[in-house]
Amino acid sequence: MARKPFIAGNWKMNLNHLEAIALVQKIAFSLPEKYYAKVDVAVLPPFTDIRSIQTLVDGDKLLLTYGAQDLSPHDSGAYTGDVSGPMLAKLGCSYVTVGHSERREYHHEDDELVGKKVRAALKHGIKPILCVGEKLEVREAGGHVDHCHQQLLAALKGLKAEQVKDVVVAYEPVWAIGTGKVATATDAEEVCQALRGALADKYGAEVADEVRVLYGGSVKSGNIAELIACDNIDGALVGGASLQADEFTKLCALAA
Ligand code: PEP
Repeated sequence: MARKPFIAGNWKMNLNHLEAIALVQKIAFSLPEKYYAKVDVAVLPPFTDIRSIQTLVDGDKLLLTYGAQDLSPHDSGAYTGDVSGPMLAKLGCSYVTVGHSERREYHHEDDELVGKKVRAALKHGIKPILCVGEKLEVREAGGHVDHCHQQLLAALKGLKAEQVKDVVVAYEPVWAIGTGKVATATDAEEVCQALRGALADKYGAEVADEVRVLYGGSVKSGNIAELIACDNIDGALVGGASLQADEFTKLCALAA
């Protein structure tokens, strides 16, 4: 089946709610509506921006979607500082990143917690963008495919095949995030193909065919074309380049 390309912009801890409104307005202005038939586009701002973006998207009937960068595995309760799936669903979030390498590194998130977050997102109708990826030493030792495979299956543990269809997988080699070092299209495709293969083995070919697998790591307008030309790469999770309206919309248009 033909999977619709998907570009998601991970803003990380950047932009206050006023800056967020300005950026979304610029993206909406620069990317004509006709493109949305060919590419799904989402922005993933900090929590504090989401309500403003919801108001703008709803008010102007924008085709752009949005989401969050994390969620609690719990629905509510004494979890100071956390934000839950029901809260994000109420804000109209379509997506949430789970297991980003910065959360694994700085917040010590392990595969078990990542799996709980995947299930929390799905429970509330939010599509998790499940990030997997190896550090440089793992790649240099040749263990990258096994490492990503293991992270993927651990996070999906306990899900039914029907649920897995709603998961977006993002292969993000840690050494390529924010470094300007992009994996070659061949290297990225090797892992994305292996991840799709693992999904096929575990959940069947139909599921594997539907799941969108993204590449992330220093993606820009200058390298998106060769990445998206690969059979198993359906789009990109974009960090730095998603903060500049011109660059991000150019990238989205090239993926369409
Ligand atoms: C990311 O944060 O997921 C990412 C891929 O960042 P960058 O595009 O800046 O490497």
